Amino acid sequence: MIAQDSTLLVGSAPVAPHFLPDLELLRKYDLPGPRYTSYPTAPQFTESVPSTDLLADLQEESRDPSQPVSLYFHLPFCESRCWFCGCTTVITRRQDLADTYLDTLERELDLTRPYLNPAQPVTQLHFGGGSPTFLAPKAIRRLGEIIHSRHRLAPDAEVSVEIDPRRLTPDQAQAYADLGCRRASLGVQDTDPRVQLAIHRVQPIEQTRAAITWLRDAGYTSIGIDLIYGLPYQTLDSFARTLDEVIALKPDRLAVFSYAHVPWMKPAQRILERDNALPAAELKLKLFLLALRRLTEAGYVHIGMDHFARPDDELAVALRSGRLQRNFQGYSTRAGAAIHAFGMSSISQTAGSYRQNTRDLALYQAAIAEGRLPIERGLLLTPEDRRRRQIIMALMCERRLDFDSLSKRLNLDFALTYASELDSLADLTADGLLVRDESGFTVTPTGVLLIRVIAMRFDAYLSRGTQRFSRTV
Ligand code: SF4
Repeated sequence: MIAQDSTLLVGSAPVAPHFLPDLELLRKYDLPGPRYTSYPTAPQFTESVPSTDLLADLQEESRDPSQPVSLYFHLPFCESRCWFCGCTTVITRRQDLADTYLDTLERELDLTRPYLNPAQPVTQLHFGGGSPTFLAPKAIRRLGEIIHSRHRLAPDAEVSVEIDPRRLTPDQAQAYADLGCRRASLGVQDTDPRVQLAIHRVQPIEQTRAAITWLRDAGYTSIGIDLIYGLPYQTLDSFARTLDEVIALKPDRLAVFSYAHVPWMKPAQRILERDNALPAAELKLKLFLLALRRLTEAGYVHIGMDHFARPDDELAVALRSGRLQRNFQGYSTRAGAAIHAFGMSSISQTAGSYRQNTRDLALYQAAIAEGRLPIERGLLLTPEDRRRRQIIMALMCERRLDFDSLSKRLNLDFALTYASELDSLADLTADGLLVRDESGFTVTPTGVLLIRVIAMRFDAYLSRGTQRFSRTV
């Protein structure tokens, strides 16, 4: 039923370039499901957990000075709204709002300081949004001073920024480079003018090309491009042209996201329903398969979910060597780092907790002005949550459930303790998503495409919840 042979098994090996998954099978398992950038997932966070408990956990987790940490800064401003957007944004042209926001970020860093350990090296620093390119060069430099005066970056820290090529100037590229950025991901989504018009994001390819030139000239060593499939007016022909055009730009990484239509959370997305131009589920699957084929034929390695990278890119190397990680920013190479996140809506993570700042700019600024950290909700993980997180991350990153290895890591008999979950994999195994051997299960290339479906079998919250998710493909 599926195109599969033993040479296609992945484990730590790359997916063969000409692998063609079975459309029927993808259709069968194309169900709503979480993306597992965390476990438990964000819908489980609750307002009932006291901030004091979350901060006590943060303080406890910060004791070990040798533990590396990641920093994330959410810069929410955008000059106009892209109608597909699922991010937490503030749409404005007022630069003074960004200046006030930096004042607030600075204060938030100071309020967080008593719970952190300044000796812990920062191995990852990321600027996301919103649009980090909303900030003028002077504001970017100020942000750098705010961070560098309070945190010690490891010499090999990975510093990255999300770029909107429509707004980038050479000065901004240089200002983020001076701050330490060497990695940039550029929002492109689709290069077809009709699609761009429909999503309210007109971005000629020349703009993207110029942005890449400025970034490379400023010393950036890794350029990523983000695409989205499932947008209005996309066809196989138009998306093939988009793929050809972005491949010609020679990015080091590509992310090809499935458009998540969640108008109950993002009402602006309803605009995309007019004209009935959203691709049907069948076409959406074909668009994804087209991307998979074109990118692997062009030499990119499918890292998992929506991520692709050149074979010599750190992500591809980490996949081959079993060191891949997954966190709120997707796949990553930095192991086990706690994430300290700043700015409205940002999510922080330690081994034992998650906490999220308020998603409302006014509330965020009011809390900080009152000297309070703007925590809106969070979660203290139970020992069972932590075990299941390890299992799900093993699936997502190692593409294997090895009974011995997981028994050691979890300090229990994995096959015995999770017997019912393992039994529940029978249909997925019969359909070729997994292969069973005497020491565990290996995810097949088809299974990699449906990894969320496999992970869902270990999610203890799904059967209890009423939350709605985007589809798995
Ligand atoms: S896609 Fe990017 S630029 Fe567009 S509204 Fe969302 S965050 Fe802003």
